[in-house]
Amino acid sequence: MPGFEIFGDAERKQVTDVLETGVLFRYGFEGTRNGHFKALEFEKKLARITNARYSHLCSSGTAALGIAMAACGIGAGDEIIVPPFTFVATFEAIINAGAVPVFGEIDETLCLDPDKLSDVITSRTKAVIPVHMCGSMARIDEIKAVCEKKGLILLEDACQSLGATYQGKALGTFGLAGCFSFDAVKTVTCGEGGGIITDSKAVYETADQYGDHGHDHLGGPDRGADDHPIIGTNYRISELNAAVGLAQLNKLDQILDTQRKNKRAIKDAMANLSGVSFRYIPDAKGDSATFLSFFMPTEERTRQVAKDLSENGVGCAYWYDNNWHYYKKWHHLKEMKRAAKLCVELADNLPDYQNMVLEASDTIMKRTLSLQIMLSWSNNDIDDRIQAIRKSIKG
Ligand SMILES: *Cc1c(COP(=O)(O)O)cnc(C)c1O
Repeated sequence: MPGFEIFGDAERKQVTDVLETGVLFRYGFEGTRNGHFKALEFEKKLARITNARYSHLCSSGTAALGIAMAACGIGAGDEIIVPPFTFVATFEAIINAGAVPVFGEIDETLCLDPDKLSDVITSRTKAVIPVHMCGSMARIDEIKAVCEKKGLILLEDACQSLGATYQGKALGTFGLAGCFSFDAVKTVTCGEGGGIITDSKAVYETADQYGDHGHDHLGGPDRGADDHPIIGTNYRISELNAAVGLAQLNKLDQILDTQRKNKRAIKDAMANLSGVSFRYIPDAKGDSATFLSFFMPTEERTRQVAKDLSENGVGCAYWYDNNWHYYKKWHHLKEMKRAAKLCVELADNLPDYQNMVLEASDTIMKRTLSLQIMLSWSNNDIDDRIQAIRKSIKG
């Protein structure tokens, strides 16, 4: 997910455009901004790339999730089904909305398993938030079918999967809204940034208002003339961040091409290594190829291979032990450590996170390794990696 690897003249030019006007605010100042609306331009481009009707750019992926939930009417006491393999931001946003994260199992896509959703759906379930982890997709059409059948809102966390598609349709466009992150390590980075896409005018308008103190943005050049139909907050992005992101977004096709080529070379070379099998990708053509994820036959063997890979200079993520991306190590969630009091609807309906057992997910994650695909690799770098991987896996 490494847009930061390719900063160059285009990013500098975009940032300079903004600095030369002195207008770092995305709204207003029409007389002095020299026609530059970087955030607005980014939004139009994001909508075009994903073929979504509307897009709203905000300060982070976490903010995007919060805005999307508010705009979709998700709030206090609503149960939201999420996977246990994600970045902590997904459940943080739910808790901060006063809603209740409920964990479903994942399958070999490393994303929510549609077949096990009904095990955790209750009368309080309001929405499902699948997370398209590590650049590739959940079985999103099947998840969508379950949501439709049960009358649940589908909201996609596609923060790690910009540019990925399923059967030609962008991830993030299957539900009522989709969220992206443009933080410092994502496929396209604004430094900090996030985005929401939706085909619903109502969701878009509420999102646009909620992220900017409730402003309806109908007052013309005078912000003071805007009305405030709802209570919002400030999840705005600055023009400087949007400018960096805009230059990066223009490079998305190039980023995807390089990732796919680099991943292909390594995956092909690993195909007949004994004991290796690959993450199930429902539509391989749509993989954004930020990671190559694979399984070893047992936990013991996986740990050994991870160690050997690291000694041979190929760092792999072993998410099962990871502090941030897998529920096993989320002690703060399990103990519900909070800076302030929880809203009662959440406090009164807390699942037993301490004793939560997700056996199917554990079985998969114990055997999963992920290699991050970099843009800056030369052919030699790739060959070196292939040699190191062969050595590590042959043992
Ligand atoms: C990065 C990420 C987020 C949060 O994005 P930020 O921009 O860092 O707030 C949310 N969900 C997932 C899956 C992520 O990887």
